[in-house]
Amino acid sequence: MSDMVHECGVFGAYNVAHAATTCFYGLYALQHRGQEGAGIVTCDTSQFFVVKDSGLVSDIFNKESLTYLKGTNGIGHVRYSTTGGNNKANIQPMYSKTSKGKIAIAHNGNITNAYVLYNQLKEAGALFQSTIDSEVLLHLFATSKKRSPLEAMQDTLSHLEGAFSIVAMGDGYLMAARDPNGFRPLALAKLGKGYVIASETCAFDLLNADYVRDIEPGELIMITDDGVESHRFAEPLKRVSQCIFEHVYFARPDSDIFGLNVHQARKEMGRQLALQSPVDADMVIGIPDSGNSAALGYAEASGLPLEMGIIRNHYVGRTFIQPRQRIRSLGVKVKLNPVKSVIQGKRLVVIDDSLVRGTTSKERVSALRRAGAKEIHLRISSPPVIGPCFYGIDTPSKDQLIAANYSIAAICEYIGADTLAFLSVKNLLRAVQDDPHNRFCTACFDGKYPVKVTHKGKKIFESRKERIQLYGTSNRY
Ligand code: SF4
Repeated sequence: MSDMVHECGVFGAYNVAHAATTCFYGLYALQHRGQEGAGIVTCDTSQFFVVKDSGLVSDIFNKESLTYLKGTNGIGHVRYSTTGGNNKANIQPMYSKTSKGKIAIAHNGNITNAYVLYNQLKEAGALFQSTIDSEVLLHLFATSKKRSPLEAMQDTLSHLEGAFSIVAMGDGYLMAARDPNGFRPLALAKLGKGYVIASETCAFDLLNADYVRDIEPGELIMITDDGVESHRFAEPLKRVSQCIFEHVYFARPDSDIFGLNVHQARKEMGRQLALQSPVDADMVIGIPDSGNSAALGYAEASGLPLEMGIIRNHYVGRTFIQPRQRIRSLGVKVKLNPVKSVIQGKRLVVIDDSLVRGTTSKERVSALRRAGAKEIHLRISSPPVIGPCFYGIDTPSKDQLIAANYSIAAICEYIGADTLAFLSVKNLLRAVQDDPHNRFCTACFDGKYPVKVTHKGKKIFESRKERIQLYGTSNRY
């Protein structure tokens, strides 16, 4: 179980029976991408309706609020934040009246030149309502010299650097775009006579929508009553940098991300790990839930039996997603329970998806020891995380990344396992069929950052403290 923190999810609906209900179910399926806040904006004959709040999707929306959200078009957002969870101004979608008409925007990612753009806009007189980089988008759109919403959005997107998967809604249209590197996922599906857009395809399954395709990196699609038009705001890159961590951990296993099913990709990571780092043991157990698919792959490839050695309490949220360390630690303790009768006296291969700070793994290993495990061989189905993410994932700063500061032997000792091994970058890429390597970002594992972060911009995202100093409170991710 990763102790990495999370990002966001976006959803859009065009020409569906009741957009708010569709958005509600879409966001419900995307809840794992952000649990701090959520919002839906709908449009009914040029009138916008907005409901957003902190908390879970199921707590924020009820029959009354969904009835209030009129219209057949809508967009929604689920949000993760590091601090300022109660700062409602930061909850998306953002919306505004502009010379090109009303617009609402929801964004997943991290605009790496946001600080530069923010200063430019501020000097030009822009008044910012929130502390999130997504508002930069709204101001760029509003101040663009281009007159049509489509051209203004193309113009806006061409100024942005970094990671952005966006849905935007105006009167009579829905737009969706992905940054040229394609860091974050975004897909299109058909629902009845209309369309839906989502960060992950699991949202389509819940709605019985038919997947059409992914939005291409550098593409901007415009959906109107005339159908779907494809436009570009950036030339296609030879190498894109889709976030491999979506497959390692973030996305739901039932989603297809970047053309691959997440469960299958994780299972293959487990297979590769078994071939790369075999163990003489009695059984394989996965750390639920994100370690389960890789554990299955490891067991299959090694010939060892797979056992349910740890049971998850489903009534506790994903621990790492809680922004405060105190709550996170409490969550770790109550969430996963070792099954004594299964593991007592046994030599275990324990499969986890990733290791970030190391604190969660340490607690897990000691719980397994207390339950009577004879040997614990920890196998991580991704490489050591050695650097922070600047592209939309709120990873801890480098000083908190255990693998950035200690050797594997030292980490193994700290965690208390008998042996520890990580999947290599090469084998991870093999598992997601990216060999030669030209489709995925692996920067947090190998330090090869595909998009430069400007010095000032980097400062914002490098340290939480500085981010708070510069922006007042922290951002959505
Ligand atoms: S740095 Fe890591 S988490 Fe961030 S986009 Fe790249 S692979 Fe994903």
